[in-house]
Amino acid sequence: MDTNALINKEILLGFWKIHILHHAAEGPVVGQWMLQELQHHGYNVSPGTLYPLLKRLEKHGWLRSEVDSERGPKAPRRYYLTAAGHEVLDLVERQLGELQRELQTQVRKFPPK
Ligand SMILES: [Zn+2]
Repeated sequence: MDTNALINKEILLGFWKIHILHHAAEGPVVGQWMLQELQHHGYNVSPGTLYPLLKRLEKHGWLRSEVDSERGPKAPRRYYLTAAGHEVLDLVERQLGELQRELQTQVRKFPPK
C-alpha cells in the first residue's frame, strides 16, 4: 500500500466520518454532494470509499437514510443524523478540540528550526 493510501486508511478515514456526521447534523446529506464536499476540503475520496462509509455509519445507528420513491429509480438516498450520531459527534468534537490545543502547544514548545 502506498503512503497516501496508508494515511487515508489509518487516519483520514476517521476525519471523513466526522465530516459526514457534521454535515448530516446540518441537514440530510446525499452521497454525491458529500463526495464533492470532501474533495473541496482536499481529500482524495472515491465513491468506492464513500458509499461503504455511509452504509457503515448507518449500520452503527449514527445515520439513518431514506429514498424519496416518488422521485423515481434514480432518486438519491438521503442520510440523516440520529440521536446516537449526535452523541458521537459531541464526543468527537470535545476530543478534537483537546487534540487541537495539544498540537498547538507542541508547536510552541518545539518551534521548527
Ligand atoms: Zn465540509
